[in-house]
Amino acid sequence: MSSQRIRQYGDPVLNTKASDVTDIDGKFVKLCDDMFVAMYDAPGIGLAAPQVGVQKRFFVYDYDDEPGVLINPVITEADGEWAYEEACLSVPGLSFEIVRPKRIYVNGIDLDGNDVTLEADELFSRLIQHEIDHLDGVLLLEHLDDDQRREALIELNARKLAARAERAAQNAGSGLQLP
Ligand SMILES: [Zn+2]
Repeated sequence: MSSQRIRQYGDPVLNTKASDVTDIDGKFVKLCDDMFVAMYDAPGIGLAAPQVGVQKRFFVYDYDDEPGVLINPVITEADGEWAYEEACLSVPGLSFEIVRPKRIYVNGIDLDGNDVTLEADELFSRLIQHEIDHLDGVLLLEHLDDDQRREALIELNARKLAARAERAAQNAGSGLQLP
């Protein structure tokens, strides 16, 4: 079990813009390790710091069995269009076809503090764009068209009501525990 709980839709940290990472120290490396555990547990192929409540600009990923950490990422070039069924660990169980640029170049820093430039296409490109959205406080719901958004909100509302009913049932249950 991971020590890092993945924050869910409705948590305000997911709508907050994160700030640049300034120190890559032991504590930071440990946090990245914990995030990898949470990501593999989920399971997912990417996890951004705000998803574990940390308002810093970095994410961990494992694409094609190549794990990495990208710190302070900036997309420098984007071209093409690609539609892909996209999902998010913070909005579990929902996925939507979303069109984004197909190919990107992104600059950033790796865990050793080296400047890196990645060229990413299709799924890897999608992963990076999705995680950078998290660093800007943007969830995939904000990329939906009107029909998709309606569908998502109905589902999310239904879940909220179900959770409330479950809590009420639990409270009723505990009321029977008389001494
Ligand atoms: Zn996500």
